Amino acid sequence: MPPKEGLQDISPGEGTHGLPSPPPPRVPATAAAQRRSPHRGDRRRLRKTGQAPPAPRGSFPPSPPAAEPGPDPSRAPQRDRATARRGRPARQTSAVGRLPAGPAAGGGEAPPTPQSRAPGGRAPAARRRAAAPDGAAGTPLALRLREVLSRLSLGRQDVSDASGLVNQVVSHLIQAIRSQDGSFSSIERLGAGSYYEHVKISEPNEFDIMLVMPVARLQLDECDDTGAYYYLTFKRNPKEKYLLKFLDEDKKLSAFKMLQALREIIKREVKNIKSKKKAGSPAITLLIKNPPAEISVDIILTLEVQQSWPPSTQDGLKIEQWLGRKVRGEFRNKSLYLVAKQNKNEKVLKGNTWRLSFSHIEKAMMNNHGRSKTCCESDGPKCCRKSCLKLLKYLVEQLKMEYPKELEKFCSYHVKTAFFHSCVMWPNDTDWHVGDLDHCFQKYLGYFLHCLQKSQLPHFFIPKYNLLSLEDKASSDFLLRQINDELNNGFPIFQKSY
Ligand SMILES: [Zn+2]
Repeated sequence: MPPKEGLQDISPGEGTHGLPSPPPPRVPATAAAQRRSPHRGDRRRLRKTGQAPPAPRGSFPPSPPAAEPGPDPSRAPQRDRATARRGRPARQTSAVGRLPAGPAAGGGEAPPTPQSRAPGGRAPAARRRAAAPDGAAGTPLALRLREVLSRLSLGRQDVSDASGLVNQVVSHLIQAIRSQDGSFSSIERLGAGSYYEHVKISEPNEFDIMLVMPVARLQLDECDDTGAYYYLTFKRNPKEKYLLKFLDEDKKLSAFKMLQALREIIKREVKNIKSKKKAGSPAITLLIKNPPAEISVDIILTLEVQQSWPPSTQDGLKIEQWLGRKVRGEFRNKSLYLVAKQNKNEKVLKGNTWRLSFSHIEKAMMNNHGRSKTCCESDGPKCCRKSCLKLLKYLVEQLKMEYPKELEKFCSYHVKTAFFHSCVMWPNDTDWHVGDLDHCFQKYLGYFLHCLQKSQLPHFFIPKYNLLSLEDKASSDFLLRQINDELNNGFPIFQKSY
């Protein structure tokens, strides 16, 4: 049977999908935006002008930040309060209000204040655009963000060259694995991760490949209170007799044993294989020579079960307002994926834990992200959702380069999770109008800062699983400070090259 994957899977053609080439900017630079400076007074004013956000109540557990009241007026300077009462001309209000308030204003309890589009929604932006004189240059921030995006898109050729190589190696490998050992003869490849979602940015030399084994039925037992990690056992004699040798002494399916066996096969086939010794789990990383550099491919062993999702996911994936109830139902009817992943919270690392994976759903949401089916299609309206995600991913990546130690806990999954929550809080395609890139980026960023401030970022599919544990509060605070500095200074880190 020919492998499912092929070069066409990740052909570079879709490169510009979701990455709008800079349209003629229509948003006029307001005086307020031009005067924007890192000084404290400005930040206060910004916080003050944030208004109660429009998001649907209860859309985001545990406490939808969008449903919280705006910042405490008592914290704002008197002058600003007066201004707020008087109200401002639409243009000016919008421009100032565009910066995320709350955490950006220097800590404290202020909630994020995503730009209000309250009653009447799009009117202010529409007026702004209508008022733009011909040839208006857009806000300085919008220009900078678009410049960053176009720079990021230039790197795509590297990614597609590298992915061609990876595809060849992985196809060969899968054929070899299938022919060599009965245990893995049903293995297939699942395209997952950011490249397939067309938002891969600065690391063309790093790939994740999920190798999937179908399993008829498994019993899942939560191994901690995250709801994400499980022990797997067979209820009766499994159809898959070849998996019995991977059970440990407690009859649990051992990720460790499976990875070890898979690794041995791969080692026979591929000379250049590196083993990253992680606690309790022999991760498999292929290194492919691609002079002058190397491509590193993490092989992720994945089980696919056709059974309903576990109870911990019941209240997750709250996409009804965004993609619709029907789509949610379709997603939840899809297979369940479990990846060999050591739960680091375990006292004794036995290598027998598995973590739920939703990368297939994430990919589907990313590629079909509009409330209207035609969002970002050639004949449909364009949004800036993917651009916003790329920008925040890039921001965090750049900061991680600058502070690798302090920010080692953070990965692109945090950014992506906050992105999906943002899509739920601002579900309309018009909330992400391509001409509002700077505003949209900042409201998404504002939400991310809010999560950091509270050290609370629920897993998108498993709401009780907090991806920013309170134990890592110091890391969250550190990132919060760094991003606030960037925000208040016009993102100088976007100009740095590492
Ligand atoms: Zn779109």
